[in-house]
This record gives sequence, C-alpha cells and structure tokens, in this order.
Amino acid sequence: MADGSGALKAVKTTCAYCGVGCGVTGAVGEGRAVAIAGDAVHPANLGRLCSKGSALGATVGLEGRLLEPTINGKAASWAEATALVAKRFKDTIAKHGRDSVAFYVSGQLLTEDYYVANKLMKGFIGSGNIDTNSRLCMASAVAAHKQAFGADLVPGCYEDLDLAGLVVFSGHNAAWTHPVLFRRMEAAKARGQKHVVIDPRRTDTAEGADLHLAIAPQSDVRLWNGLLADLIRRGAIDRDYIAQHVNNFDQVVASLLEMDQSVSAVAADCGVPVEAVQDFYDLFAEHERTVSLFSMGANQSAQGVAKGLSIINAHLATGRIGKPGACPFSITGQPNAMGGRETGGMANTLAGHMDFAPEDRDRVARFWGAPDTARAPGLKAIEMFEAVRDGRIKAIWVMATNPAVSLPDSGAIREALAACPFVVVSDCVETDTTAFADVKLPALGWGEKDGTVTNSERRISRQRALFPAPGRARADWKIMADVATTMGFDGFGWANNAGVFREWARLTAYENTSRLLNLSGLSALTPEAYGELLPIQWPVTADGKGTPRLFVDGRFQTLDGRARMVPTRPRGPAEAVTGAFPMSLNTGRIRDQWHTMTRTGLAPDLCRHAPEPYVEIHPEDAQARGLRDGALARVITGRGEAVAVAKVTDRQRRGDLFMPMHWTDAFAPSGRANALVAPNIDPTSGQPEFKHTPARISAYRETWTGFFLTRSSLASPGGLDLVWRRIPQDACQQHEFAGRGDAVERDALRKILTKGLAGELVTYEDAASGARRQAWIDDGCLVAVLFMTTSGRLPARDWLAELFAQDDLSAEARSTLLFGRPPGAVADKGPMVCACLKVGAKAVDAAIAAGARTPDAVGKVTGAGTNCGSCRPEIARMIKAMAANSKEPAHVG
Ligand code: SF4
Repeated sequence: MADGSGALKAVKTTCAYCGVGCGVTGAVGEGRAVAIAGDAVHPANLGRLCSKGSALGATVGLEGRLLEPTINGKAASWAEATALVAKRFKDTIAKHGRDSVAFYVSGQLLTEDYYVANKLMKGFIGSGNIDTNSRLCMASAVAAHKQAFGADLVPGCYEDLDLAGLVVFSGHNAAWTHPVLFRRMEAAKARGQKHVVIDPRRTDTAEGADLHLAIAPQSDVRLWNGLLADLIRRGAIDRDYIAQHVNNFDQVVASLLEMDQSVSAVAADCGVPVEAVQDFYDLFAEHERTVSLFSMGANQSAQGVAKGLSIINAHLATGRIGKPGACPFSITGQPNAMGGRETGGMANTLAGHMDFAPEDRDRVARFWGAPDTARAPGLKAIEMFEAVRDGRIKAIWVMATNPAVSLPDSGAIREALAACPFVVVSDCVETDTTAFADVKLPALGWGEKDGTVTNSERRISRQRALFPAPGRARADWKIMADVATTMGFDGFGWANNAGVFREWARLTAYENTSRLLNLSGLSALTPEAYGELLPIQWPVTADGKGTPRLFVDGRFQTLDGRARMVPTRPRGPAEAVTGAFPMSLNTGRIRDQWHTMTRTGLAPDLCRHAPEPYVEIHPEDAQARGLRDGALARVITGRGEAVAVAKVTDRQRRGDLFMPMHWTDAFAPSGRANALVAPNIDPTSGQPEFKHTPARISAYRETWTGFFLTRSSLASPGGLDLVWRRIPQDACQQHEFAGRGDAVERDALRKILTKGLAGELVTYEDAASGARRQAWIDDGCLVAVLFMTTSGRLPARDWLAELFAQDDLSAEARSTLLFGRPPGAVADKGPMVCACLKVGAKAVDAAIAAGARTPDAVGKVTGAGTNCGSCRPEIARMIKAMAANSKEPAHVG
C-alpha cells in the first residue's frame, strides 16, 4: 500500500504470536509485501522483536488460505453458508437443547471477536458451552488468581522485570517462549539481577541462570511450600502485611506442618541437591524485589492451580505484591489469551470478570437484553470434546484453532470431530481440523484483522490491517454477528469493530462498584479514536488513564478486600510411570515455531532451527535403549505412538523425555506429540497435564531412508508405512522419509514421487549399497532430486536445496549434483542457530574455535545474534559447552 507519493505506508500493529504483545510496524509495499520492524515506542518491546516477530513478513502469503466459504467441500456464498450454520444450530438446539451445541475458540481471536462469540453462546443461545484453547495454556493461573485475589487479575507489569533484584522462572523457558521479555531481563541481569530457574530441563533460560533447580516432574508445590516454611522459620515474612491484607495465613501454616518441611526433606522429594534448594531459599529471603514468573511448565499439570497458589502464597506472605519489582507474574502464551479471559471466552466465566453467581449473571443478562443468558458454566475443552465424542454435543463451531493437533489424545479428538453431526470451522487457513468441517468459513488472518488484543501485563494494543481482506474472507466478529442475526437474535447489528469494542468497554463499567476490570475510559471511543488507540493497561479510569500495577493499596477484589492464601498439598502426577511406560513424556514449544505451524511453517528460516520432530533423552537412558543421537526413535504412550529424531542430551533429566508439539499432518504426520498426551486435567482449572505422560522409547530401526527435493510440497503418500517429514526451504520443499519395508515398498514410493516428472534425468544407482540418486533438470533448472539408500549414508541437503534458486545450473553443479555437494566444499551449515541472518551451527562453532568467547564476539565474526538476539542464549550455551570441553573459562554474559 503506497501512498500517492509512492512512499510505503507504515502501519502500527501488534505481533501475532506470544503474550509479550510486541508492537510491530509494517511498511506495506506492492501486493502483500511488507517490511517488518519493531515499534520503537511500544512499551512492551521498545522496538525489539524476536525471530518469529521479525519473520512475520514471510508468513503473509496466501498459500493454504481459505478464501471462500465451502459447504461439504463445495464453494458457497456467504448467504448460503451463514443460513446453513444458523439453521443447523437452531435445529439442533430445538431438538436436543441449548447444551447440544458448542463453540471452541482461540487466543488468536481479537477481543472484539471473543466478545461476540461469548455474547452469542452464553447470552443468546443460553449455554455455557464456549471454551478457548487458552484452557491449554493458563487456565490454572486463572483459577489461582481467582482464589487468591478474588478475580483473574495479573498484579504486575513488565517494568517490574527491570526493577526486580531476583526473577524466579517457574516452568518458563522465557529465552524461547517470550524472547523479547527475556532480553529485557538479560539486560537487568547484566546490572546485577539474579535469575533462578525451576525446570526439570536445562533450557536456554536455565543455562545462563545463577541457579537452576532441575526438579523432578510435578514437584513444584513441594519446593514452593518448602520455601514458605523456610521463610517462616527465618522470620522473613511480612507479618504486618499479612495482618492488614491477607486471610488464611494460619490455615496455610497448619497445612505446611503436615509434612517435614526441612530443606533436606524438600530437596530429597524434589530430586535436587540440598545446597541448591538452600541457595534458592536464601536468594528469595534476601530479595525484597522478587518477581516469580510462571508459565506453561507450571500450569500444564493436574496440579496446576496448586502450583500457582503455592507461588502466590510465598508472595502474599512476604508482602511482595503491588510494589515495584515484586509480584507473582503469570505469563501468557498467546497474543490475546488475556482478551479471552476478560470477555468470557472460558466456559466457567461470563464476561467482564463476572461469573455465574445470580447477581452477576442477572447483571450481564440485563446489559445484553438477553433473558436466556446461561445460568451455569459450560464444558471445558477436554470435557467438551468428550461430549462431542459421546454424542451429547451435536454441533460444534471451531474458530481459529486446530484441536485435531493441539489437544491431548488428539486421535480421540479426530474421532469426535469425525462423528459429530455438524462441524463448522472458521479459520484463515486449511488445517488438520478443517478436514472434519461440514462448513468452512474463511476468516481474516494476521495482517488483515483489525481490533484489539491484551498482553500479559494487561496492556490493550491495536492489531491493525496491513492488507485488504483476501478473497471473500471476513472478520470473525462479523461472521458470528451475521449468524446470530440470521438465528433471529437482536443485538448483533454493529456497524463496525469500534462499535463492538465500545459495547464491550461499557459492559466492563456497567453497575461496576468493585470489579477492577473496568474500561470506562474507553467506552465512548469514536471510530477515529479507536483507530488511533495507543497501548494502554487496564483498568482504564473514566479520564482515560491506564494502570500499570494492581493491588498497590493492598486491596484485592474479594468481599472484604483481603487476599486469600490457600493451603496447597503436593501430589504426584495424575498417572504414575509403570513398568510398561517407565519414562515421563513432557511436551512443549520451541524457539522458532508457533502452535501448529500454520503461519511459522510458511517461513523457511523459522523451519531450520529445529527442522523436524525430535525427542530429547538423557545419554544414559539413550544408551540403555540402544538409541544414538540423530537416529529415529519411537515414543509410545497409552494414547499412541510417534516417531522423532533422538536428541541425546544431558540437558534432560534421567527418566524424562521432551517432544515439541508443533508438527501436523502437513509437516510430519508421525511426529505429532500431543497425540501421545493423556487427557488428564487439573480438577479445578480443567487444564491438561501436557508436562507428564508415562511413556517408553525405543529405536525405530529403519531399513532404508532418503529425501526428495521438489518445488511443491507433497503430503505423505498414503498406503505406505513411512516416517515422512516436510521441511520448507527458500526455493524448494525438502521431504525426508524412512521406512522399514523392502525393495518393493521403496520402489512403490519412488514411483509415486517421480510420477509425471519431466525433463532431463540424471541417475546413479548402486545395488550393493542400495543407493539410488536421481535429478531432473528442465530448461537448465533443477526440477526434483531424489536420494534413497539402505546404508543410511546421505549427503547434507543445504547445497542441493540452494541449487533450486538457480535459473541455469552451472556445468560444475550438474557434474557433482549426485554427490550432493560441490567438489572440495563442506556444504553442511549444521542446524540453523540464527534464523534472521541464516547462520548455522558450524559457522558459530568455527567462530568459537577461533577464539570468540562471548555472544557479541561470535556476532562480530558471523553476524549471528546481531538482529533480534533470540539466538544469543543458544550461542552462550555453545560457548560454554566448548569451554567445558576444552576446560577453559567462558565469558557468556
Ligand atoms: Fe512476537 Fe516475539 Fe514479541 Fe512474542 S516476543 S510478541 S513472538 S516478537
């Protein structure tokens, strides 16, 4: 979008990914070209972006987009699709009742979308059956906040991370999951801030910390309770603060006395050295200004609420809340998880932090003019899909999320969707879930959406459109409003998104004498003022001022204004390991991918840090099972089986496995980690225990393997027993495969892959080593390359993949094509370390070997880490590892 002068138009918006909520500036060029930069004045990031945010411009193409409504796979008009969805929902409700329908929504939705979804389901359909995929991320923190503070209130702000003397990361690999915040804390650490990491894995966050407690899985509550007991013993609690502002201290003390709280007993139960536990307790006692961050590692547990409460208890007992640099701080995963929590996207809340207490419910019903407003919570995500599976729910609308991949036991989720009489999916792209849809509705994606999101520090920011809507895609709020109107409901006729936001803001202020979630200062925004809204933290007072920090006056949102400490008792995971499944499988996220890769999978640079599914395992466990680093391994649980590349590393505890959760059918159908996860939940929050499922692992033992490079992406060929992975490259698609069949199966695959390929064919075959190498060249350009072997030896793919960018292959390239590398050259860059500047591990290693001893020094030589800095923790780790090997000191600060 150039203006009349030809200059590119810069649009300020917010990043599509994590809960940091970074401000982004997009300079829009021709078509959908956009130059992305950090917004220098956005308070969340002050101009910084991580690798994912920096690559946003590479993800806005229209590949895989839904561009028109479809009914049973056939194109339909919006009028037809809207009418069908409205009719099927109405008919289902008429025949089977309000609770026979459900919405499953997403933290990718904007607040305006969330508000309309919730108003339609809870207000007018009259069922509580709307839940969000945020249930998978931070429902446990929400429940803990409500019990302790009286409402889902995040006390702190990012400035507290600058001001803290001590930051404790509980189950939070901030270096990978919230990189921009982590860089902020790295800067504070350089000024003397201390970092303690509580995590069974030695993550990049743990690697650079002052202290890492690699606790046994699910022993967090024991550790935090032990801390509180220790603080009491040494007189380091704030008795005045407790007397004035906190209830239940005595009950918590009494519950602590049920166990031996000595440091040695705690250390033994947590599986860590006594000295490490003592060091943590000393650091906590010494630092008034402590921020305790907690994220998925704490929340995704059958005791996630207790973990959050045990952290909050320590802060309430020491009065470290509502003060600069001191608070418990739940960090959210998604760009608008908070917006969903605020508007009632979760099944157990109504809207505006009102629940189902009769007076709350009646207030919301009056505001909406909706007498049928739900009177009870609906089904949470896991229960919702169980109800779909057993037939209680007969119509479901999935919005902007991919439960066929992301939910635990996702095989059962697929069965539920397949059996459901009516499935609607509104999304911007085709996903594993859209395969089950009767009706597909094309929604706007990032760069087209226009509305608001709330980040982890309660800061509301605008997402703005950079491009016009592609095809016939529409805003989610508008899709739902049209269905609601067609169902015959009043109150959905907004002229624009500003109207939706105004109504939402008015609801927060409606009859509000005590609710802190209050946007009264934003409830009369004109469309122009809404368009120009600057980032602001709620509560927003009537005069338009935001609020950085909550509970500054020691008053909470409980009836008596006092916070509540809640007794917490340590429990083991929901399912213990057994002889058949002796290990604990933990699933999580990686640095450069987001959710189910629908966006980040479009950016080749983001696919090369961890190109394919992997499983991390401790060296002794690997040795005991005959697994070597880089080989394929089978991971099996009571729910399913996956195959992934073994990464043998002592960063993993003995007995534990870790698998990233991102891969889908489109990229690696046999590498879907969440298909293995048991759907065990926290009984209060309903959040699944993604961090522990009993599992076993063994070598896959493929008999042949190979790769196929071609210009278009291919799905795994059906009917063959293959491990198939697709890795996007700049100029081609890399398909990796391995099998355990014989020559007949190899030949079958070769025929499928090469069918229809035209051009000059170059072939090398060696029956003795089972090698077959073929390349197709047409008009001087490389069309496809196929390498297969039974010996397991294959060249690196980097050079071959780069040849696809050449218009006219050189004679030298042609002559060495089937060697896989140019004469004398080392073509393998190793795994990508720096996604921004495409620097591989081999270049970083070479720089370190040549004497670079800090990330800055490595950056000077290679460029790695000099753009967004997301890879700096990894570079620091590589320096440390090389120093450890050579026994020389590292300076990795
Ligand atoms: Fe986006 Fe990265 Fe900022 Fe998260 S830290 S909002 S992913 S740029």
